[in-house]
Amino acid sequence: MKRFFLFVFLLIALILPLVPVSVTAQGYGLQDGDDIGFVLPKDAQAAEAQAEAASSTGSAFILAAPGRVGVGQPFLVRLTSDQPLDSVSIHWQGKEVVPSISVWNNRHVALALLGTDVLNAKAGKEELSVIASIDGKENTFRRTVQVVGVDYPRQDLTLPKNMVTPPAEVLDRIADERKLIIKAKNTVTPRRNWRLPFDRPVQGKITSLYGLRRFLNGKARNPHRGLDFRSPMGNPIKATADGVVILVGDHYYAGRSVYIDHGNGVVSMYFHMSKPIVKEGDKVQRGQAVGLSGMTGRATGPHLHFSVSVLGKLVDPEPLFKNTVDNMLK
Ligand SMILES: [Zn+2]
Repeated sequence: MKRFFLFVFLLIALILPLVPVSVTAQGYGLQDGDDIGFVLPKDAQAAEAQAEAASSTGSAFILAAPGRVGVGQPFLVRLTSDQPLDSVSIHWQGKEVVPSISVWNNRHVALALLGTDVLNAKAGKEELSVIASIDGKENTFRRTVQVVGVDYPRQDLTLPKNMVTPPAEVLDRIADERKLIIKAKNTVTPRRNWRLPFDRPVQGKITSLYGLRRFLNGKARNPHRGLDFRSPMGNPIKATADGVVILVGDHYYAGRSVYIDHGNGVVSMYFHMSKPIVKEGDKVQRGQAVGLSGMTGRATGPHLHFSVSVLGKLVDPEPLFKNTVDNMLK
């Protein structure tokens, strides 16, 4: 029996080096369900330069980040190292995230989701910096990310007048709610619980896309900063990823709503529910029902409005349903 295992071991040892690099690279990931490649062709050159730059510490790094991103579009940044990473911090538009570090095949990986908000992002160059500390030594990487304009379509809506301009007596209420919402959207916790692709919160068709330039009764208003899903009254709404419920509210605009923190600056938001079925502090799993669909708040019919906040910026959630980590870094 021992001989048999020895034989199998030797066979594996002989075959392993013959497996093409691209195959092992495909299998290189962060955790179950993540499907990411190690060396991305378009980054290979930059990676070489950076590995050289960092050679004084005897470490090799690969930083994958896009050179161009559309206004409002989410993107990933991934740093991989052959040496254990003490910590990594990623700086983007005045915000910082310290991503969880995963270990896979003796590689150390930090992954962060970032983005800009269609409400206030401007086209132009933005600096992304990544600081990786190894053995107490800091290595700083800088990248220029070109934020490019996106031609989001116009949408005209006709609403009852009191839904467009809130009556004076609710302005204090709206201001108080805004504070809670800003706090929830800017939640950054150390453990990453999300993975890609995200689960769709409901199966219904998307009826309004992110970024639509909205005109209510002919007047320009804030763009649409989420997705509207067709969802009948009472339909269960599901968590897009694992996380912790950080806010359950009954707000003027959003109606009955649930906010879930997925870690490392990623928060998902579910609006216009008839009834939330979780409470603040609850741990939820991806796919778990967190409420029932409705039309509370500023809504003219039952639907789900779903938003994703990344370090306080509301980004387009749609690419997050379609892509693996690998696809998004391509
Ligand atoms: Zn909406």
